[in-house]
Amino acid sequence: MRCPNCKSDTFVEINMTLGEKEVAFRRCGRCETQKWESEDKDVDLSSVLKFAKNLAV
Ligand SMILES: [Zn+2]
Repeated sequence: MRCPNCKSDTFVEINMTLGEKEVAFRRCGRCETQKWESEDKDVDLSSVLKFAKNLAV
C-alpha cells in the first residue's frame, strides 16, 4: 500500500472493530500521515473515540 501523500510504500493499515464499526487506521512510516477510515469513509479521531466510548456504555 502506498502513501497518498509521499508515495512511500511504508504505508501500513491496521484494521480493528469498535463495537459494530469496522475501523481502519493507516499510517505512513515516512511522512507520518495518519488517517482513520470507517466503512470506506474518512473519519476523524474524535469519531473513532466516540465509537470506542459507545463500547463502554
Ligand atoms: Zn507518506
